[in-house]
Amino acid sequence: MFSSISDLESAILSCDQCKLCQENNHGPTSYNGSACSPLAIIGEGPGGVEDEYGVPLVGPSGQLLDKALWSVGVTRDKAYTSNVIKCRPNKNRTPTIDEGQFCASIWLDKELALIQPKVIIALGSVALKYLLAPTARITKDRGHWFTTKHNIPAIATYHPAYLLRLTGKDLVKAKWEVYYDMKAAVEKCQELAPGNDLKSETIPNLLELYYERKISRLCKSTT
Ligand code: SF4
Repeated sequence: MFSSISDLESAILSCDQCKLCQENNHGPTSYNGSACSPLAIIGEGPGGVEDEYGVPLVGPSGQLLDKALWSVGVTRDKAYTSNVIKCRPNKNRTPTIDEGQFCASIWLDKELALIQPKVIIALGSVALKYLLAPTARITKDRGHWFTTKHNIPAIATYHPAYLLRLTGKDLVKAKWEVYYDMKAAVEKCQELAPGNDLKSETIPNLLELYYERKISRLCKSTT
């Protein structure tokens, strides 16, 4: 059991417990935001930009997530964001359920035990399947509250990467669904953890914030 988020993060960043850390990536990624937040946002796994920067949801999907959260009164510095899987699968392939179970049972469980969020937003199918059940389906189960095995209320919504692939009426419909799912999560947070400030005055620039980590990861990979 880890007593501080920095110790846990160091352990995550040096993990080599499965072959995913050798799949043509820069090694494990960790979390971003506040480890004291009552709101946790759990995504799938790192894409190319996240692999470079070492943190989740900072690429195009992360920027769309920032906008969606802003519309319901949340900024990423006031929430805790992490992924089920810490290492980027080769060529951004979707991680298998077994890979998700393996990594998350080592790291995500410890993160949630340490930060003890009041509410979780599960982004997309991989997060939903880990937090609810391997048989869960995002199209059927999004927008419905469930309790995770960590005994935390959670609601699933579409992953922003999915929204980026939609167009026209499908996109408009999915965006509204995400809005209402996130709004429900914020309202539940306010009910369970009243008085917590979830929004800063501006959306933080995460690419700027983690630029030094990116340089350090890229340098390590070339040595
Ligand atoms: S995917 Fe998870 S378990 Fe596997 S090496 Fe990366 S951090 Fe470790």
